Amino acid sequence: MAIDLRLPTDSIVHPDKDRFLNEDNPFEAMMSRFDRAAELLDLEPGIYRILRNPEKQLIVSVPVQLDSGDVEVFTGYRVVYNSSRGPSKGGIRFDMQVTLEEVKALAAWMTWKCAVVNLPFGGAKGGVICDPHKMSIGELERLTRRYTSGIMQLLGPDTDVPAPDVNTNERVMAWVMDTYSMRVGRTENAVVTGKPVEMGGSYGRREATGRGCMLVTREAMEHLGLPMQGATVAVQGFGNVGSVAARLLAREGCKIVAIGDRFGALYNAAGIDVDAAIAYVQEHRTLVDFPGAEAIDSETLLTLDVDVLLPAAMENVITTKVAPKIRAKVVCEGANGPTTAAADPILDSKGVFVIPDILANAGGVTVSYFEWVQDRMGYFWSEDVVNERLADIMTRSFRDVLQLATQHNVNMRTAAYMLSISRVATVHRLRGIYA
Ligand code: NAD
Repeated sequence: MAIDLRLPTDSIVHPDKDRFLNEDNPFEAMMSRFDRAAELLDLEPGIYRILRNPEKQLIVSVPVQLDSGDVEVFTGYRVVYNSSRGPSKGGIRFDMQVTLEEVKALAAWMTWKCAVVNLPFGGAKGGVICDPHKMSIGELERLTRRYTSGIMQLLGPDTDVPAPDVNTNERVMAWVMDTYSMRVGRTENAVVTGKPVEMGGSYGRREATGRGCMLVTREAMEHLGLPMQGATVAVQGFGNVGSVAARLLAREGCKIVAIGDRFGALYNAAGIDVDAAIAYVQEHRTLVDFPGAEAIDSETLLTLDVDVLLPAAMENVITTKVAPKIRAKVVCEGANGPTTAAADPILDSKGVFVIPDILANAGGVTVSYFEWVQDRMGYFWSEDVVNERLADIMTRSFRDVLQLATQHNVNMRTAAYMLSISRVATVHRLRGIYA
């Protein structure tokens, strides 16, 4: 399969991005969920303090010679939130909105996400404040290499393993891998995941997050006694996660009645031909004017009377304003943080079954783990083997979280946090405090 090495022109930087920063400090928003779970777990104060603080925070200046000959200095971050369970894992984003608070929040999120699906990884995140859409390929390569060099002290297959995130892709990961390899004097492909398959990437990685969403949605529907056949689904975001999840849910018999991207949304009560929509987006880079469906606005998509709502675009879309109008029975959080902390109780009171982001979109990091394992073994698996092992982990994790939710009479999000925090806390207790 040909690799698309273009950076997405359709960045997740959106006009209301400020909402993320204004409505809630991202770190505190994530931590409010952490605190609730920690309280229910009756976490001892010492472990609580450890888990509330990132292990390492590195800020680097990244000088880059631009094509014009000028030198610009960018700011980059890498936060290792927790590495008690194994090497820290988390993406690198290139975005004008990157802040240390956001990187810290995302690094903590990765810690809980890896633990909820029981991967032997900790959590990390990185970012560089830049606008990649205004940079040439050469400038991006120099930025990536200098940033990688700047965070070299953290990186390594046994210590910290980055992956793609907003505005970074397989090509950027290839540069990270090459820079690291040149610095250590050997080819080390296990230092990053999300690489091209030709250089140690894994089959199934690109589809993994969407596939994971389909798998946990299927579990949720079964738990609620709702048939997949004919179930109606609305999907916000039609990129890597949303389009794959929509296609796989359609294959399971669901009717995808609405899809949307940052330019607009579409509705067809009889069901949208997802494969045709994917082909249309490949050609036009947007869903706008896709034939066979009527245009609706983004908020309408979120509040449709459907069985499943899959927000797979960006954070903070289900706010206290939108939550009372949600009519879906199941919300599968393909995106990271699509529901604000304040909206959680509203969805609970309406009886909406929410599959929380740290569980719902963990398919991506799970196949990143498979990629790392394959690189370290030097032995590569078929796509069928990857998909089978992914299904095993996602369904088992869903059932673990559901069991905890039932046992403690809490929602799936709190149960997912409880499960992951207890796993990280147990390791801290067993390891003790190095002095
Ligand atoms: P992507 O860039 O491939 O696609 C994003 C989609 O969201 C695009 O269709 C875009 O048009 C749409 N979008 C952007 N702004 C929007 C807006 N304001 N309203 C409606 N739609 C909008 O990104 P992706 O990889 O699919 O990631 C989507 C979400 O899933 C992000 O929150 C990301 O952090 C999360 N996530 C992705 C992965 C992964 O493996 N790709 C893993 C875990 C979580």
